[in-house]
Amino acid sequence: MPPSITTRSPDFVVVGGGIVGLWTAFEAARQGLSATLLEQRTIGAGASGGLLGALMPHQPTGWTDKKQFQLDGLLSLETEIAELEALTGISTGYRRCGRIMPIRNAEKRRQSGDWAQASRERWPAPFRWDVSDETPDATWLPPAEMPFGINADTLSARVSPRGLLSALRQAAEMSGVTIREGVAVEQIEADGKLRTTDDEIAAGHVVLAAGWQTFGLIEALLAAPAGTGVKGQAALLRPAIPVDPALPILYDNGTYVIAHADGHVAIGSTSENTFGDPLTTDERLEAVIKHATSLCPALKDAEVIERWAGVRPKAAGREPLVGPLPGLSGVSVATGGFKISFAIAHLMAKAVVSLSRGETPDTLPQAFLPENRVRPLPC
Ligand SMILES: Cc1cc2nc3c(=O)[nH]c(=O)nc-3n(C[C@H](O)[C@H](O)[C@H](O)COP(=O)(O)OP(=O)(O)OC[C@H]3O[C@@H](n4cnc5c(N)ncnc54)[C@H](O)[C@@H]3O)c2cc1C
Repeated sequence: MPPSITTRSPDFVVVGGGIVGLWTAFEAARQGLSATLLEQRTIGAGASGGLLGALMPHQPTGWTDKKQFQLDGLLSLETEIAELEALTGISTGYRRCGRIMPIRNAEKRRQSGDWAQASRERWPAPFRWDVSDETPDATWLPPAEMPFGINADTLSARVSPRGLLSALRQAAEMSGVTIREGVAVEQIEADGKLRTTDDEIAAGHVVLAAGWQTFGLIEALLAAPAGTGVKGQAALLRPAIPVDPALPILYDNGTYVIAHADGHVAIGSTSENTFGDPLTTDERLEAVIKHATSLCPALKDAEVIERWAGVRPKAAGREPLVGPLPGLSGVSVATGGFKISFAIAHLMAKAVVSLSRGETPDTLPQAFLPENRVRPLPC
């Protein structure tokens, strides 16, 4: 049965109820626009509804405007979250817990000194990157696992992904955003109208924040694919003996171990460029669990209480895509945050809303603009 066609016309429509879509809809409402968010399943059904919530800076050497943008995100998120929690009364599990990374060879130890030095030039006080020979807690990272010491930074933080989504959803709704779950956008018409599974929408402006599925939505409009999805698997553990939720993120060559506010420990993750079912977990996750539990004595005999998988949006060229889509009036994209979306989504949101209003956000790297990255098909 074809959907019944009714035409709705809010100022602003956001497609996708993940971290980027929620911040974007909330930001639009904060700026006085009437905003509707369309989510094909439920809020957090995509990559954002996961377990880790690491907010970790890039290495401070080889500084770029992308690294500056992420630093701005890491610094400003704390205040944004405090405001969100005050507005909604919902705890997001945010904590600036820092991060430790074992150093496993002499070359990495030498490089670590460069990172520590660069952090003093690039990061504002009091945030630091230090090289140390002391573990903060031998049950978290034992000396045997750090033969050449550790890198330790005080800028990293963690948040509960689901806690943050709940707070954002509530804040967006309190600000007047209409959230419609179970409504999928099927097609973007040449005039920017959206055909959904329910109806047809002609908005003042549309922002596609549908995670990795954004690339499929715009594929037919572009000369080449704008990005792809990279599957990841993660797990949530309940330690046999409670761990201190203030412990730093433990990061070892792709493996994350994160103590959360509720006493659970999240671990991850795999990185799979090819995959069949995006949502199932398999032996690749078991290998990550094995590595994490052998690295971290506090996880001995921990119970795995959840296994989870999702697909990260990775834009071609790796930089996020934020701003108007060339060749299609009134349609923007905000996606491609890949592994750092939680640190920058609030800034992506501010930028895409400003751009939709014809303003120029001063902190958005030029390389994030679709006009510099994608080519529309000739008419
Ligand atoms: C295992 C794993 C661990 C990760 N760890 C971290 C981490 O520690 N820190 C970090 O910052 N990032 C992490 N990431 C990456 C992060 O989760 C993603 O970059 C981020 O969630 C992407 O958010 P998004 O809003 O762009 O997309 P999503 O969260 O995927 O949201 C997109 C939404 O759009 C909806 N949608 C899709 N198509 C349509 C349509 N046609 N119509 C309507 N709705 C549609 C989807 O259902 C989905 O809900 C991790 C990812 C994975 C998989």
